[in-house]
Amino acid sequence: MSTFQDNFINILKTNGLSITRQRQLLFDLLQDQDPLSMNELTELVGTTIDRASVYRIIATFEETGIVRRISIGWKFKIELSEAFVAHHHHLTCLSCQLVVPINQEKLESFISELADINNFQPIQHQVEIQGYCQRCQANRNIA
Ligand SMILES: [Zn+2]
Ligand SMILES: [Zn+2]
Repeated sequence: MSTFQDNFINILKTNGLSITRQRQLLFDLLQDQDPLSMNELTELVGTTIDRASVYRIIATFEETGIVRRISIGWKFKIELSEAFVAHHHHLTCLSCQLVVPINQEKLESFISELADINNFQPIQHQVEIQGYCQRCQANRNIA
C-alpha cells in the first residue's frame, strides 16, 4: 500500500470518516494531476458520481485538509494538500486559468528570515502570484 493511500486513510479515520468508493475515486483522480477546476473534475468523473456528491466530497476533503483550494481571481482549482505533495507555491493566469507550481529555496529562506526579524514563529504561509501567462500576455497585446 502506498504512503499516499496510507495518508488518505489516516486523515479520513482521524476525522471519523470511512473510505467510500466515491471518496477513493476522487482521491485517485486528484493524484498525478495538475490542479483541477470543479468543472474539470466533474468531467473526469463522468457519470460515475453525480455532481452534487463531487462537490460534497471535495468540501469534506477541504475541511479535513486532503485537498487545498488555489484561488484564481473569483474562480478556484483544487489540488492535493501538502500531506501528499511537497511544499510549493503557484503562478496562476487570470485569463486561461493556467496554474504553474513554483518552488524556490530563496523564497522559503526569505520567508523564515522575515518571520525571524519579527520574532515570529511561523507555522505556515501562502504565496500565490496571479497575473497573465506568456501566451495570454501576447493575446492581450493583440486585443
Ligand atoms: Zn494564460
Ligand atoms: Zn513556501
